[in-house]
Amino acid sequence: MQHRIIVLGAGYTGAIAAGRLAKRLHRDDVAITLVNPEPDFVERVRMHQLAVGQDLKPRPFTEMFAGTGVQLRLARVTGVDVERKTVAVTDANGADELAYDTLVYALGSGWNAQGVPGTAEHAYEVAGRPGALRLRERLARLDAGQTVLVVGGGLTGLEAATEIAEARPDLSVALAARGGLGDWLSPKGREHLGKVFGKLGITAYEHAAVTAVAADHVATADGRAIPAAVTVWTTGFAVHPIAQATALEVTGTGQIVVDGTMRSVSHPDVYAVGDAAMALGAGDKPLRMSCASGTPMAWQAADAIAARLTGGKLPDAHLRYFNQCISLGRKEGLIQYVTADDRAVSAVLTGRLAAAYKEMICKGAAWGVANPMLGLPTRRHRVAKDRAAAGSVAGVTA
Ligand SMILES: Cc1cc2nc3c(=O)[nH]c(=O)nc-3n(C[C@H](O)[C@H](O)[C@H](O)COP(=O)(O)OP(=O)(O)OC[C@H]3O[C@@H](n4cnc5c(N)ncnc54)[C@H](O)[C@@H]3O)c2cc1C
Repeated sequence: MQHRIIVLGAGYTGAIAAGRLAKRLHRDDVAITLVNPEPDFVERVRMHQLAVGQDLKPRPFTEMFAGTGVQLRLARVTGVDVERKTVAVTDANGADELAYDTLVYALGSGWNAQGVPGTAEHAYEVAGRPGALRLRERLARLDAGQTVLVVGGGLTGLEAATEIAEARPDLSVALAARGGLGDWLSPKGREHLGKVFGKLGITAYEHAAVTAVAADHVATADGRAIPAAVTVWTTGFAVHPIAQATALEVTGTGQIVVDGTMRSVSHPDVYAVGDAAMALGAGDKPLRMSCASGTPMAWQAADAIAARLTGGKLPDAHLRYFNQCISLGRKEGLIQYVTADDRAVSAVLTGRLAAAYKEMICKGAAWGVANPMLGLPTRRHRVAKDRAAAGSVAGVTA
């Protein structure tokens, strides 16, 4: 009997987890199904590039998973029943239900409007492909001199504002940040960011908490009205409500709470990775939503599932950060080195070298999805007979 593993979501973390499981486990013993609504891999870290009109390399899953044994199910997940161990999906043929023995939940996240009035009606976003394509179409219709305001001074906001300003020097680009511009960066990092903003002519509105978005401006908590023909909203990500509707233990924001092996603390046959999961990193600090931490989370989950099924050694990698890689358009970048728990240290890399480094990181992230063993030898282990049967792995402890 094959052990049924279903992976929900084929973004960075779901695709890596599925591919790595296929390399770790013997094909006769497991059936690995990857559920995703799109037939191709979306490089989410490049959505700001897509928004300004750059074309991204197509990455069809049929090529990525050719010969791996991973079955792609093109469908949208509409619900998960962790008691019955089923997943509800819809596709062109209607509704269906899939049964699992082990579930890997990797549905990622979308933009987070944070309930600010007017965002749904007037704001654009770059958290996913549909949003980026909508913004691309809108930017293409803007005339010279019109204002684009990026709301949010985090990594996505910085990348979006600089990308737009570099691609469209005829527009007036501004960024509104709740705090100071790049205030979490080292002094050298902040200085470089300020220089690049100056060079690209981006206006920074600091300490500007946006409280409402209208068709042609935003309002701030301190009473300012900032003009904006287009408002791009980048104030963090929100997870899908699906997990929150299950019996899984989730955080107040709907992330699934997992242990060090990415296993749900409430339901041992469920694993969660990437933006959808709340895992602790160095210093017991929650990992931030990022590829930087999502990728090792996916390795950890796949290796832990394989170990529990085959009776192997559980992985004990510590999840930590090394740097924050920020693109500032195509010609400039900022690599801010950080402590294991993501606090800036003084060292930075800047300029064209940083831009090239960031490009290499993005390429490497996509390459890592198609090559989830990252050079490690593929050794497919047999699933222990007593663990292959439906449901039995849930009770196995390391
Ligand atoms: C513009 C931008 C730049 C970024 N830059 C960086 C960066 O430089 N470094 C970094 O570390 N992080 C960066 N991030 C964050 C990073 O992209 C995310 O943290 C990462 O993609 C999370 O991976 P994931 O697998 O959890 O989710 P995702 O990559 O979002 O994948 C989720 C998958 O689930 C699928 N899905 C969603 N809903 C359903 C459903 N109902 N049914 C079936 N499938 C579904 C989606 O189609 C998608 O394939 C950036 C994000 C953005 C938007």
